[in-house]
Amino acid sequence: MKIQIITSSLLFAAVAVMAQTPEPMKMKPEMTEIWDPEIAVITPGETPKDAPSDAIVLFDGVDLATEWTNSKGEKPEWIVADGCVTVKKGTGTIKTKRVFEDYQLHIEWRAPAEVIGESQGRGNSGIFMQGIYEVQVLDNYNNRTYRNGQAGSIYKQHPPLVNACKAPGVWQTYDIIYTAPRFNEDGITYFTPPTVTVLHNGVLVQNNVKMRGPTEYIGVPEYTVKKHGPGSIELQDHGNPVSFRNIWIREL
Ligand code: MG
Repeated sequence: MKIQIITSSLLFAAVAVMAQTPEPMKMKPEMTEIWDPEIAVITPGETPKDAPSDAIVLFDGVDLATEWTNSKGEKPEWIVADGCVTVKKGTGTIKTKRVFEDYQLHIEWRAPAEVIGESQGRGNSGIFMQGIYEVQVLDNYNNRTYRNGQAGSIYKQHPPLVNACKAPGVWQTYDIIYTAPRFNEDGITYFTPPTVTVLHNGVLVQNNVKMRGPTEYIGVPEYTVKKHGPGSIELQDHGNPVSFRNIWIREL
């Protein structure tokens, strides 16, 4: 009997509290709409090769020396002609004067029409993010090589998802979305590693992959690296006359 009285009292109290609690506000569509700040308006390029209005044009087909130097910081010796720049064998890499961290990069490349060499010796160049992480440029049109070293690979770390190469002598595109690493306080290990997405001729070949360390030709990439800040984009002189054009970048 006593228990029954207590239970009834509790029930009465609960009903009383519920009666005082206001009904939760009914959600309306506009309650989850965010209006400010307004999204920045930019003008996209007329075609995918054209720079959007908020991009930095790194090479317009004519002027290389404004934005690029050789590895020593001097005027680059690569050959500018016919709206593109071509590797001059033996002169070394070229690099941007500006340094970058996170970005979207558009770059077009062309392997020599005259096919000379095989495997890694044919139309080899490369695009180095922050000067140390390579997206491979290679003529892999009917040209086998090791899978983690072919066009669109993150050299020796991630093979491309597919081989989307066009024939030698035909212009090809890379659209690269790169996120620079963040470092732990020890200054030698990644808090978050560099990540990269690559579209080769509009086809996804790297899907936000994590890099293990700077690109190594011999040996495994180091899992610990020395902390680095923003870096240049570098183009590789691998001894083959690979050409580049329509280079633009959007910092993120
Ligand atoms: Mg290379």
